[in-house]
Amino acid sequence: MKRFCVAALLLVSTITFAKEQQAVVLISIDGFRHDYVEKHDAKNINAIAESGVRAEGLIPVYPSKTFPNHLSIVTGQYPSQHGIVDNNFFDKERQQRYSMGDGVEDSSWLTTLPIWNLAEFQGVKAATFFWPESEARINGRTPSYYYHYNTPTPNRQRVNQIIDWLKLPEAVRPRIVTGYFSVVDSMGHRFGPDAHQVKGAVQHVDELIGELWHRLNTEVDMPVNLILVSDHGMASIKADQMIETQSLPINESLFETVNSQTRFMIYAKPDTTEQHIEQLRSKLEQMPQKRFYLESEQSLAALAVTEGPRRPDIVLATKAPATFTDRPPEKRFDGGTHGFHSNRDMDGIFITAGPGINASATLERFSNIHIYPFMAELLGLELMTPIDGDSAVLAPLIKSD
Ligand SMILES: [Zn+2]
Repeated sequence: MKRFCVAALLLVSTITFAKEQQAVVLISIDGFRHDYVEKHDAKNINAIAESGVRAEGLIPVYPSKTFPNHLSIVTGQYPSQHGIVDNNFFDKERQQRYSMGDGVEDSSWLTTLPIWNLAEFQGVKAATFFWPESEARINGRTPSYYYHYNTPTPNRQRVNQIIDWLKLPEAVRPRIVTGYFSVVDSMGHRFGPDAHQVKGAVQHVDELIGELWHRLNTEVDMPVNLILVSDHGMASIKADQMIETQSLPINESLFETVNSQTRFMIYAKPDTTEQHIEQLRSKLEQMPQKRFYLESEQSLAALAVTEGPRRPDIVLATKAPATFTDRPPEKRFDGGTHGFHSNRDMDGIFITAGPGINASATLERFSNIHIYPFMAELLGLELMTPIDGDSAVLAPLIKSD
């Protein structure tokens, strides 16, 4: 009996120790559509999925663009809440345009608490080898370790650095590490999701992920949970289906516009009246044979777009294979893009495996806003701010003590 009690006590203290020491490596493969694992034969990623849990799909937030989605993954909030409402947008209050990465120069674009700062505030070191806006001094600080974004940085160097960070002495070692690969998305845009060039990119990243997984399990002296995600999927687009933005009847002295390819955003200038907006709205509605539609107030609300200076007064939207373009005809190409309303082609991946993961769990499609509370739980962090994500969604994935 006595021996049993001592054993039980030891077991409890071991589990507590393990939970405190678990690490999370969060890797984003930009533009990796949910079905690329099979379609482009990602053997290593598939093996990780088989040793852990793979969701049927990861549903992006609206719009299904890179910056809003990467921020939702690391903040648990919808874009209207974290502030990065598209890759490019206008703010009527600031009378300024935001472009991808502007938070690095001016972090007041972001109104949120990313997972790396949640960790740092609770004494857990964080490291980012790229993640959109991870270099921004949000809440007055950055991760302990980070790099300024530079696309040509060799992908293998990223893997090597992630492993090196996790092998640092305990006092300075990060327990939340992010990594990011852009090549699958780049090839998807240029050639479309079915192209052999995309297969080549998937094969390249799959090899790196296989290497990372092997090294995490053989070289790192700490339990590490790997989370593989993508920000969105990819749909085919056609050059002959492009809508010329110059053809839209917009008076530029009354409106600011932002072309984000899958949607066209129109913002009233300070002296523009409600009547001007209504007149433009009805002109657009009445355009013959248009390949776009106007988003209704209800539709935007259902997409979690809330009132505010970053919400356009009019949003024009398209469906694949149509997009908006301001390029001359000789510079338009068939290819791929994302940013459309959520549908199966816009789904990304979510795969997780590691000592803290209950591999017998199954997972349907879910929204990426639920990943943040899941990571916080794995790291033993308390949430410090209200979020949109729900910790109950991924709770079954966490191995119980
Ligand atoms: Zn992306």
